[in-house]
Amino acid sequence: MFLRIFVIFAACCALVASAPAQSVPDQNAPKARPHVIVVGVNGMEWDIIRPLLIRGELPNLASVIKRGVYGKLRTVSSPNCPKVYSTIATGTPPEQNGVTGFIVGGITANTNMLKEEPLWSILSKNGVTVGMANVPATFPVMPVNGYMVSGMLTRGKGCEDGVLCSPKLSQVEGGDAVYPKSMVAEIEKNIGDISIDCARMPSVDDLKGHESQVIDEWLDEVQRIRVQQTKLFDYLLTNHSTDYTMLVQSCEDRVGHWLYPIQPHNVGYNPKVNNVKLDAFPSQYRAFDAVLGTILKHVDDNTYFFILSDHGIKPLREFEEDPHMHMDHGGTTPVIAKHDFADGDDVPGSFIAMGPGIKHDVRLMGFEATVFDIAPTILHLYGIPVPSQMRGRVLSQMFEGTKVERAAGSAQQ
Ligand SMILES: [Zn+2]
Repeated sequence: MFLRIFVIFAACCALVASAPAQSVPDQNAPKARPHVIVVGVNGMEWDIIRPLLIRGELPNLASVIKRGVYGKLRTVSSPNCPKVYSTIATGTPPEQNGVTGFIVGGITANTNMLKEEPLWSILSKNGVTVGMANVPATFPVMPVNGYMVSGMLTRGKGCEDGVLCSPKLSQVEGGDAVYPKSMVAEIEKNIGDISIDCARMPSVDDLKGHESQVIDEWLDEVQRIRVQQTKLFDYLLTNHSTDYTMLVQSCEDRVGHWLYPIQPHNVGYNPKVNNVKLDAFPSQYRAFDAVLGTILKHVDDNTYFFILSDHGIKPLREFEEDPHMHMDHGGTTPVIAKHDFADGDDVPGSFIAMGPGIKHDVRLMGFEATVFDIAPTILHLYGIPVPSQMRGRVLSQMFEGTKVERAAGSAQQ
């Protein structure tokens, strides 16, 4: 296990609070560190997003794409959230960083399993202030030079294994969901008793005979969580501005798994469920676009802004050995789409970046960007050397003045 940082950031609160405006520039003041915001969207699928972009239904996302570079993000084999987000955080393959899936050796994936140092620790150690909220597999939270609110795989009452369910902040058990602890009361006071992750999907028994009603109620709950999450993100960006901020949404993927707009020829089609809300999954991206609008209020010309997803999501295929491999809490949700295909190139994630010196409206073709490249690229922005264990490379081709070259040696791992 890597050496975890247990340094107490005594000045934490001062560090995360917004710096007071200075009328006279201090010649001796250290140069401001880059401002970086990363927004993760679980299972963002270009197949669904492209038609919405063409119809002008995702104005905020379209504006980011126009001002930046965009394309697919090559992911790992059989991708799922804990596996890929830990790969993104450490720049190392799942087998090396220790988080190989939802459950590892019979135990729900957690931060104690990390065998490689994650980005948030490296940044903290180098004096960069770090803010994170709802990033999968960050429970129990780790000390950082700022704050961390955990995400998917947080355990609690009614969600004992933490897998694809959502304890409220007051129900969390088995570790801390918020660092520093003092922020728990602050979040409860200003936002409420937040749900840490998206809602659990209904089971076959829940749905039987009440399909329309259950779907409507569940989608209402998903939207309620998203509204609360938006409020949280806005609050943190406003009141605890940090050099590096990473915020992740997970409801999109959750909706796609069982409400993907599949056709009668697709595997698992059941008109009673799959013909009720054909627009449910695309609408998640319309809702995400509104969240993006809120986040973009905190993005200025000097901010490096990334939108990325850990993988896409596609309808099930007959020939896959285990079409219901995806964890869906008891295996009774009628899953019709998934992402843990053996060939990760079947379900690439997405990568969109804009900021100072980043090219405008440039598409990265093929698999120029991979999940291994995210941590090295962010470290590069801060001038921090990339540790030797990281497998990726700095995505230098996204900057002005560089030629777009096909990445070599970035094969799936
Ligand atoms: Zn999923």
